[in-house]
Amino acid sequence: MGTTIQINEEAVKSIRKGNFLIYKTYFRPETYHVNEGELLTFQDEQGRFVGRGYYGQQNIGHGWVLTKDVQTQINEVFFTNALQEAFNDRKVIREDEQTSAFRLFNGEGDGIGGLTIDVYAEYCVVTFYSKGIYAFKSEIIHALQKVVAPVGIYEKKRFATDGKYEGEDDFVIGERGEFPMLVQENGMHFAVNLNDGPMTGIFLDQRDVRKKIRDEYAYEKDVLNLFSYTGAFSVAAALGGAKQTTSVDLANRSRAKTEEQFLVNGFPVENERIIVMDVFKYFSYALKKDLSYDLVVIDPPSFARSKKKTFSVANDYKGLLQEAIAITRSGGTIVASTNAANVPMNKFKRFVEQAFKAENSTFTIEEEFGLPDDFKTTNAYVEGSYLKVLFIRKH
Ligand code: SAH
Repeated sequence: MGTTIQINEEAVKSIRKGNFLIYKTYFRPETYHVNEGELLTFQDEQGRFVGRGYYGQQNIGHGWVLTKDVQTQINEVFFTNALQEAFNDRKVIREDEQTSAFRLFNGEGDGIGGLTIDVYAEYCVVTFYSKGIYAFKSEIIHALQKVVAPVGIYEKKRFATDGKYEGEDDFVIGERGEFPMLVQENGMHFAVNLNDGPMTGIFLDQRDVRKKIRDEYAYEKDVLNLFSYTGAFSVAAALGGAKQTTSVDLANRSRAKTEEQFLVNGFPVENERIIVMDVFKYFSYALKKDLSYDLVVIDPPSFARSKKKTFSVANDYKGLLQEAIAITRSGGTIVASTNAANVPMNKFKRFVEQAFKAENSTFTIEEEFGLPDDFKTTNAYVEGSYLKVLFIRKH
């Protein structure tokens, strides 16, 4: 069953080291025409077994090796064992009474690239990153029912297509949830909807950053949250005693969603400012009105196209920082975040240096964050550690 593929010495070494992403160069013309979900067996040039995986198109590669053990078959037992191991690994966060939303299974970090599973209280969301891994849906769902036994399961199909979202109704099995549904994170409340497109209302990978803001950076501060989405950072700041928060996002939906997050945390929304506007327009507005802030959070998407221009982290982050520096009070802090996998931390820090230099200002980096522990990664595939967050004090 499946296709056997001979790979060169370099590819063998890479797999042996644990980099399980399958690259296009692993295929020859005669082996390239494999199907999504097809099992692949890799051999070295002498015909010896190297690993076994599946074919699945993602924008980063062509599938994932799942095992280096010739005895291991890819079946429901395999998925159950992988999920059980991930479940055991999350013991601390599972037993944390203040947190009910977290990542249970993080792709290649937990041994299965192209698949993530998040827990939202009694529910789970399974994200499939290719048609290839989706071919194993029934094995994965059965395994999840066995290991976690959630009340209900939702799915996200994030296949490499033209960027359009594939799911209309993401419900899979169990009981349907009632949305908005409340989850907790370090005692903060967040309203989520697991059946409303690709996003749920909260990005779970920023948990440690929200906590830091609430516990150490928000008290009595004027806070500006840029690219605020549902305002999760604003809520964290308000809970930490911020004087006022201002949330800015281009999307119309962000106003109602942000109001909702404040309400479920017991804050009257009238005290907080929620602005539906392009961030770049807001900079000009703030300068004109002489507005400045003690804490500015910047968390843009890695790529965005608005009516007039496209934003990419690689080309535009430095400019974004410069504009933010101009409206940050001296002694204040900029929380700069990016999830662009193509911008590693050293490059990100270079943007910071260049931006402060251009603004004739100096700075100290006070905190550095990557992914939290539940977003388990592997050293063999560093691109998996996509999140970079810096807390930068402006002198
Ligand atoms: N910081 C958020 C997540 C941001 S997601 C959180 O912690 O939950 C990125 C957001 O940027 C989206 O909500 C999108 O609507 C918004 N966005 C994209 N381009 C924008 C622009 N030019 N101005 C303002 N918001 C923008």
